[in-house]
Amino acid sequence: MSQVDNKRTVQQLARPNVLAMKPYSSARDEFKEFDKEMVFLDANENPNNTQVNRYPDPQQRSLKELLASQKGVKTEEILLGNGSDEVLDLIFRVFCEPGKDSVIIVPPTYGMYKVLAETNDIACLEVPLTRDFQLDVSEILAAQTAETKLLFICSPNNPSGNTMQGEAVRELIEKFDGIVVIDEAYIDFTEGSSWTKRINSYDNLIVTQTLSKAYGMAGIRLGSCYAFSEIIALLNKIKPPYNINTLTQIYAYERIVDNERFTEEVQTIISERERLKNALKEVAIVKQVFPSDANFLLIRVDDAQQRYTQLIDIGMVVRNRSTQLHCENTLRITVGTPEENNLIINALKQL
Ligand SMILES: *Cc1c(COP(=O)(O)O)cnc(C)c1O
Repeated sequence: MSQVDNKRTVQQLARPNVLAMKPYSSARDEFKEFDKEMVFLDANENPNNTQVNRYPDPQQRSLKELLASQKGVKTEEILLGNGSDEVLDLIFRVFCEPGKDSVIIVPPTYGMYKVLAETNDIACLEVPLTRDFQLDVSEILAAQTAETKLLFICSPNNPSGNTMQGEAVRELIEKFDGIVVIDEAYIDFTEGSSWTKRINSYDNLIVTQTLSKAYGMAGIRLGSCYAFSEIIALLNKIKPPYNINTLTQIYAYERIVDNERFTEEVQTIISERERLKNALKEVAIVKQVFPSDANFLLIRVDDAQQRYTQLIDIGMVVRNRSTQLHCENTLRITVGTPEENNLIINALKQL
């Protein structure tokens, strides 16, 4: 671990009540080997087989073993949640004292960090990204106070689509006196490598990912995070015992294990993104197409509100992001199937 002098340790950053508490011990925590042929009379389940009459594995061991082998991490460096939303909320609740602590976000960015801060009564300090959507390292470090516990970086960023420069991220992980959370919801659409490779170098780094985007499983709600085992142990302590249901564990396993099919599908979305990008650059009302490492494109148009409404009228829904910082007159368009992409290209051409 590279520990910069005078930085707080994980134990010093975590809330004292979380450090002190004793987690709920479920039936399946006390007797773990539930693949075995045993008579299970310990959890007040209904004995009749409905496929899902048993509680799910609270530690999701098969799924974590699969993820560990694919990502090159240890199972004790993984926490799974009911979507990234739950993972992010658990991070808030391990580190931030309501009514006292603060976090830093870097707008324009994903909206959930602020919603979760407000839900947990945590002050949210905003340090804008530069006009080209990169991190302002010195401003971020200057904004930190003794109460600041977390810094949220979304890379590739939603809604801008770009990856944050690696050097800036590294400097923040090394100098920020708190936990740096890197949200990699769109990591599979980039050429760049994941920060999960660095969780062994930094004890203040948490990387979150999700099955909702590249894996095409938004409906099953599975988010993950990767970090130093001491952080994962604290998150585990407060998570609801059975937060990942049986069906989600089964579906996710089947999808993740078929890496070849996954890679092929992602390649198709990436090549469609490039085709869509080139086509949009030729459309008269499109003033700018921002670079994207994600499965969406942020475009600047002549009049976003008008174009948004016109698209709705012909049955096409995009996202108007104009109220976000640096995003005046922008629309965010998700890369769809080749047919859907043709429809949006033609629609925009005709406006
Ligand atoms: C879509 C998205 C997520 C996914 O959240 P889930 O709760 O896992 O569906 C997370 N972060 C960002 C930045 C996103 O855009």
